[in-house]
This record gives sequence, C-alpha cells and structure tokens, in this order.
Amino acid sequence: MARSYVHEARRRVGPRRERIRPIIERLVLEHPDAVIALRFRDPVELVVSVMLSAQTTDVTVNRVTERLFAKYRRPEDYLAVPLGELEADIRPTGTFRQKAKNLRGAMRMLVEEYDGEVPERLDELVRLPGVGRKTANVVAAERGATQGIVVDTHVRRLSQRLGLTKHEDPVKIERDLVRIVPRADWARFPHLLIWHGRRVCIARSPHCEDCVLVDLCPSSRVQRSATIVQASAPPPTRLKPARS
Ligand code: SF4
Repeated sequence: MARSYVHEARRRVGPRRERIRPIIERLVLEHPDAVIALRFRDPVELVVSVMLSAQTTDVTVNRVTERLFAKYRRPEDYLAVPLGELEADIRPTGTFRQKAKNLRGAMRMLVEEYDGEVPERLDELVRLPGVGRKTANVVAAERGATQGIVVDTHVRRLSQRLGLTKHEDPVKIERDLVRIVPRADWARFPHLLIWHGRRVCIARSPHCEDCVLVDLCPSSRVQRSATIVQASAPPPTRLKPARS
C-alpha cells in the first residue's frame, strides 16, 4: 500500500485514541462470546493449558488436557512420572519434548518455591520455565489479576490493521495498546481481537465487507466516499451475516 494512501486512510478514520472506545463497544456487541477457549478448573491447569497451546489449536489442547488433567492433578504429579511418559501424554500438541521439559521445570518451581500455588504477579510468572510474557499475561488476566494486554498473532495483526500500532515487536505493541485501551478492558480486549481475527479479519483475506469496524479501520478494503466518518457514528449496516 502506497505511503500517501496509508496516511490518507489514517487521516480519514481519525486518531486512535478517539477510535478505541467505539472499536471496543462494537466488538463487544459483535462477539459477546469472546472468552478464552481453553478449558481448565484451577490455576495450575490454566498454566499447563496455556503452555501447551503454543503453536497448536485450542481444540487440540482441550482434547489432550481432558485426559491429562484426569491423570495429573497436582504439580507434583508432573514430576512423579518418567519424562518420556509425560511427552507421550502431550504429544498431539506438537513440540512435545520441549513442552514436557518446560512443564516439568515450571511444576518443579511451583512445588519448590511457591508451595504448589501459581503466583499472581507477572514478574513471578515469567520466572517459570517456558512461561513468556504472553503466557503470563493470559494467566494473570484469567485469574482476575490483569497486569498487561496479551499480544498474540491475532492481536498483533488486528492492532496493525486498525492503526493502533506500527510495531512488529509484541512488547512494543503491548506498550502502545496499554496507553489507549482503558484499563478496565485490558483483559477482554485481546479476546475481542482474537475472535474478530478468527471470524472476520482473517489473516489472508479479511472480510471487510462484513466488518463492523469498516469506518474505523484505515486498512478497510471497502470503498467509501471521501467523507470523514466520525468515530462516534453508529456502525455501518452489515452487508452480509457474520461468519461463525
Ligand atoms: S475493516 Fe477489514 S482490515 Fe479493518 S478490521 Fe475490519 S476486516 Fe480487518
């Protein structure tokens, strides 16, 4: 896309600070079911699920953890079996050797340093082997202790397309987002972008003609008149039903 066109598109939709509220409001209406898709019953299961979800689908993780959590109930249980057995139990999630090694390391640290409990603070969570900032943010948010904004591949793509950031680095994207997203929305904002990214703003071919953000998005492929659209204006009439 030519630079002048990008500049013009950004000018047309207005400043990101003015667009962020209507973006959130419309996505809440569009995706009222936008919550984490992983299934877990306690903080340890949450950590395990999120660690296993790297580079695979939530559906696969849920299928694996259904049997895994029946067998491994406490952090100690992950240390009580041979490494090869744990690897076999999580194999369908991919990169299972590295994941099994990280799971054992994380569970060992929980047992030895946190009495088997999962800490709430981000700086403690990222100490666990295999737990990066994204995983730590997911765990903290799902426990009601949100301290940042989760940036995964969908959040990165949509934040860029919506003109909320120009960065590629997840840490810099998160820094941009926490400056404009109201703190009360930090936990649900990534879920809204993730579900919108799965259903409408698809990576290869975004369905801009079906998108409720079409007048707030500088990357919209829908041809519009030269009129500047106010951020507070009601969403455009949908042309086609949303995909599910
Ligand atoms: S208008 Fe198009 S590019 Fe922008 S958020 Fe919607 S689907 Fe994505």
